[in-house]
Amino acid sequence: MKKKIDHLYKIRHSLAHLLATAVLYIDPKAKFGIGPVIENGFYYDILFSKKVDEGIIPVLEEKIKELIQKNIKFEREKVSLEKALKLFKKLNQPFKVELLKDLKRYGTTNYDEIIEIKLKKKKPKKIKEVTIYRSDIFIDLCEGGHVKTSSEIPIDGFKLIKLAGAYWRGDEKNPMLTRIYGVAFLSQKELEDYLKKQEEAQKRDHRRLGEELRLFTTNENIGAGLILWLPKGGIIRQIIQDFLIETYRKNGYQLVFTPHIAKKDLFEISGHLNFYKENMYAPLNIENEEYYLKPMNCPFHLMIYKAWPKSYKDLPIRYAELGTVYRYERSGTLSGLTRVRGFTQDDGHILCREDQLEEEVIKCVELVKYVLEKFGFNEFLVDLSIWDPTKKEEYLGSSKDWNFAINALKKAIENIGWEYKITKGEAAFYGPKIDIKVKDVLEREWQISTIQLDFNLPKRFEIKYVDKDGKEKYPFMIHRALLGSLERFFGLLIEYYAGNFPLWLAPIQIVVLPVKNANLDYSKQIYEKLKNDFRVEIWNPDETLSKRILNAEKEKIPYMIIVGDKEEKENNISVRKHQEGDLGSMKLEEFINKLNKEI
Ligand SMILES: [Zn+2]
Ligand SMILES: [Zn+2]
Repeated sequence: MKKKIDHLYKIRHSLAHLLATAVLYIDPKAKFGIGPVIENGFYYDILFSKKVDEGIIPVLEEKIKELIQKNIKFEREKVSLEKALKLFKKLNQPFKVELLKDLKRYGTTNYDEIIEIKLKKKKPKKIKEVTIYRSDIFIDLCEGGHVKTSSEIPIDGFKLIKLAGAYWRGDEKNPMLTRIYGVAFLSQKELEDYLKKQEEAQKRDHRRLGEELRLFTTNENIGAGLILWLPKGGIIRQIIQDFLIETYRKNGYQLVFTPHIAKKDLFEISGHLNFYKENMYAPLNIENEEYYLKPMNCPFHLMIYKAWPKSYKDLPIRYAELGTVYRYERSGTLSGLTRVRGFTQDDGHILCREDQLEEEVIKCVELVKYVLEKFGFNEFLVDLSIWDPTKKEEYLGSSKDWNFAINALKKAIENIGWEYKITKGEAAFYGPKIDIKVKDVLEREWQISTIQLDFNLPKRFEIKYVDKDGKEKYPFMIHRALLGSLERFFGLLIEYYAGNFPLWLAPIQIVVLPVKNANLDYSKQIYEKLKNDFRVEIWNPDETLSKRILNAEKEKIPYMIIVGDKEEKENNISVRKHQEGDLGSMKLEEFINKLNKEI
């Protein structure tokens, strides 16, 4: 992706330099890695000559403010690569020297590109000159994008937020550097708004809540990015799956099941080994045949289509599967449920005739809306990615196919009344698509659903049907995912609800709390009447009532039923609602009605 260099970018980038400058004042022997601009701010990777801790943050902030007020110039100089090498050797900056050596040998410092060049997939660029920047006592190797002088930086608009360990170039064989993160905005107000939002985001962080509420975990003996759904998370997953499968059934889908691995041959036919190999894991060898973990379900579904010949009367065919796929993600990029190595897609493939395409796409869009609304989302951001018709040679399929398909997608979105953005040239080479994002409470966007046309796979797999006129034709193919990856979607749900799941999703819906041992029998009667229709637990009075209420609040259980002598005598129950408190006493039947209404 090309970076956008605007005024804010320049401020953030310049602050990274000032951070390094400030570090040099405190530790003249510090060695500098890289200091890029990132979302909301910047960081710099530094090898300190002495041990540092969070205590260094206010010291550096003060120093940076001082530097801003000194009206420091950012001076650019173009020098030969050789001269730069000498300069950074003299400055005793080994990381910069390493970067320069890479520039000399490969014409880039990008690790991925270097690997491609080493594999001879790409030719190195020749670089003779580089630019260096001076700001006060600090000199950096840098492509630029700075303010002219530090007076352009709003002095109250930035903050250093944390230290973290980071291996030089993300490689654990390299030294561990200290990464200092900063955030920066155009004003103090913007900074404060951001910090407030961050605090809220931390409260909702699905990684933290996942651990606290015992929803999911990972295990280092199993491997990073491979999710263990704990019993409580498992309950929610099963509810989601049941809902999806019921929805598929009502909407004319046929449920299929396919294996996790397949022979090389399959992925050669599908083309994955050509254009998707870097996202796939190394093959397994079984009886001298190579098998791959599947990165996608589509090829399997097409083989199901091919199990017997199809006629125009058989279409549309809608296959659905909760299919688990495995995709390579670098260990450094793995995070919670959002970036994982194995995940389950609520995957669907539709094969239809030309005269059915429009209606099928409309149905997909309606299904997305229905499913997402069920989980409480009702604001959608919709992107329609189309081809760039001036570069037809880069795409598969005829102009007629493209125009027809784009039109069908447009009509479907307009039919449901969504606003949408058309992005030209963003379509895959094999077809246009609709992406649907939802916004969470913190206005963050999550990519969830996709509806994608495909002019490629039916031909690769020789998927055909016999039409009315007796001729064999290729059907149109739609890939569609409603929730995308169940793991990612679960991450979104946890954050969206801050762990306070609505009643129909809550792993435990009700907990019965007898005040004392004498109330146990009556409590058990209540429990027995609820347990067939609700997820209910009974917590014995081994701990005080107030302690148990506190625990139920912590576990975010929607309802507590409290049963004491008074309730027993009056043959009713006292109800407490999570986050709302006491709802008073009522008859059990009344409570059950209330729950059923809520669900
Ligand atoms: Zn720079
Ligand atoms: Zn697919």
